[in-house]
Amino acid sequence: MPLLEVENLHIAYKEIEAVKGVSFHISEGELVSIVGANGAGKTSILNAIMGLVSPKEGKIKYKGNDITGTAAHERAKMGIRIVPEKARLFPQLTVWENLMTGIYGIKKQVPLQERLDWIYELFPILKEREKQAAVTLSGGEQQQVAIARALISDPDLLLVDEISMGLMPILVDRVFEVLQELNRKHGKTVLLVEQNALASLEISTRAYVLETGEITFSGTAEEVASDPRIHEAYLGG
Ligand code: ATP
Repeated sequence: MPLLEVENLHIAYKEIEAVKGVSFHISEGELVSIVGANGAGKTSILNAIMGLVSPKEGKIKYKGNDITGTAAHERAKMGIRIVPEKARLFPQLTVWENLMTGIYGIKKQVPLQERLDWIYELFPILKEREKQAAVTLSGGEQQQVAIARALISDPDLLLVDEISMGLMPILVDRVFEVLQELNRKHGKTVLLVEQNALASLEISTRAYVLETGEITFSGTAEEVASDPRIHEAYLGG
């Protein structure tokens, strides 16, 4: 049974049809990418899985249960976490307090110190900035807090929206490495949406190509990366 099943998903903003009947699945332990251009509907799909946007039509199943109508905070308790495109931190709270919002309300016991040690090892700058208000951090540092906040609860399904945006290239590499490590070493299931197709395909097991709200191609990451059309459109020919 797949961990996540999306069936015939339609998302509309008034008359704008952003997502037009998208279906896909992710099995436990996979790292799957949805690649596509600006405005293809990637963020809309992630938001629908997190419960931040209501689909017009279609079904979302998680661990075999229909969660299409489930509230976002309930989905969070079920182990789904999103790293949004813009960090969306609480600006006046400190880095540490923002991290703590990631475990607020969850039932499962989190070995907090262990998780914090791990997170500070991944992103050492956050340890230095621990007591600073989030608003005083650079954009790239805020992104690191957003990732850490999602990771601290040890989620079963991690949704990552356009993580390469707004990060320095060296940090992009580091973040993709971290995602790969989470997947390969810790068996975490990750759904990545990216315009930066090359970097995301490098770490993915499978990928879907999204064009104006529809999946037009899917396969293993190698198949997608080596398809001439994809290459031309997304990987710079
Ligand atoms: P990007 O990489 O630019 O974020 P995306 O692939 O994530 O693009 P979405 O953000 O899902 O795409 O947007 C899909 C389409 O829906 C776009 O045409 C966008 O303008 C439109 N859209 C998204 N959110 C809204 C909204 N809240 N109201 C109206 N239109 C929206």
